[in-house]
Amino acid sequence: MAPVLDHEGRRIAYLRLSVTDRCNCRCVYCMPEDGVPMLSHADILSFEELTDVVRAAAELGVRKVRLTGGEPLARRGVVGLVRMVAAVPGIEEVAMTTNACLLAPVAGALREAGLSRLNVSLDTLRPDRYARITRCGRLEDALAGLDAARAAGFSHTKVNAVLMGGVNDDEVADLAGLARDEAVDVRFIELMPIGPSAAWPRGRFLPAEAVLEALPGMEFLGRDGVAELWHMPGWAGNVGLIRPMSHKFCDGCSRIRVTADGKLKPCLHSAAELDLRGLDHEGLLSALRAGIAAKPKYHRMDEGRASESARDMNEIGG
Ligand code: SAM
Ligand code: SF4
Repeated sequence: MAPVLDHEGRRIAYLRLSVTDRCNCRCVYCMPEDGVPMLSHADILSFEELTDVVRAAAELGVRKVRLTGGEPLARRGVVGLVRMVAAVPGIEEVAMTTNACLLAPVAGALREAGLSRLNVSLDTLRPDRYARITRCGRLEDALAGLDAARAAGFSHTKVNAVLMGGVNDDEVADLAGLARDEAVDVRFIELMPIGPSAAWPRGRFLPAEAVLEALPGMEFLGRDGVAELWHMPGWAGNVGLIRPMSHKFCDGCSRIRVTADGKLKPCLHSAAELDLRGLDHEGLLSALRAGIAAKPKYHRMDEGRASESARDMNEIGG
C-alpha cells in the first residue's frame, strides 16, 4: 500500500506510542508535584491492542515506532512489547525515549528484543539539581542506565536536555561535553508551554540560540529529523538543537502519536483526538487515515499562546 500523505503532502512514517502515563519521576516541567490522576490498568491499551495499532500504521507507511510515556520502562513487561512491535512487518526501527533510571537492569534484554535506539532525557549532570528537576530521580541511576546501554551495544544514543533559563542554562557546555569523547548526540530542546510549564515565567523559555552562544566554534552539519545538528571540531558526537518555539518545524513533521489510552493525536499541540479503542483492523486503518488527514498545518505556540493540547506531556510522551 502506498504511504499516506497528509493534506500538506507530509509523509507520515513515524508513530510515537505512549505505553503508560505513569512515571517514576515528577519532572517540574512535565508533572505536578503531587502527580496527576492516573489511568487505571483497564484504561491502558494492552500489548495486543498496541501491536494492532502498529500493524495498521505500518500498512499505511509507518516505518519507525518510538515507545514513550510517562516512563516506558515503568510499564511491566515492556521488553515483551518491544519484541512484538519489532516483529510487525514493515517496521524498520523501534526506539524508546526514557529517563534511563530503570534502564540498567533491562538494557541487554531490550537490545536482544529488537530495540534499535535509545533517547535518554538528562537535563543536568549535578546530582542535587537532578533531584530537584525530576523530584524523585537519582542522577546515578540515569548515568548507570546510559553506561548499561553502551555495554549492551546501543550506539548513537541521543541525550535530550530541556533548556530552562535560570535552571540549567549554566550547564550547556558540561552537558554538550558528553559528545566530546563518545558518539552520542546531545540535543537541547526548547521548553514548551504545556502542562505545568505553561504557567512559567517567560525567562525560563530560552531560544536554543543560547546553546550556540555557549559553544562558539561549532559547524552546522544539517538537519536530522526535528533537530539541527552542529559539530564541534575534534568531538566524537554532535550537538543538536530542537527548536519547536523559535523555528517551528511543522512543515517537515512526519509523526502521529497515540496515547496510552488509545487516542490518536495528529499533532502534539492540538486538542484533536480520535479514539482507536475497540476498532478492528479496517476500523484502525480508517481512523488512522482520518487522523492523518486532520493533521494541522502548524502549531501556534510562537504566537504567544500555550499549547492547545488537552493533555500533559506525561500522557502524550513528547
Ligand atoms: N519519561 C520519558 C523521558 O522523560 O524521557 C519519556 C516521556 S517524556 C514526556 C518525553 C520527553 O518530553 C522528555 O525528553 C522530556 O524532557 C520532554 N518534555 C516534557 N515536558 C516538556 C516541556 N514542557 N517542554 C519540552 N520538553 C518536554
Ligand atoms: Fe516522567 Fe519523562 Fe515526564 Fe520526567 S519528562 S516526569 S521522566 S514522563
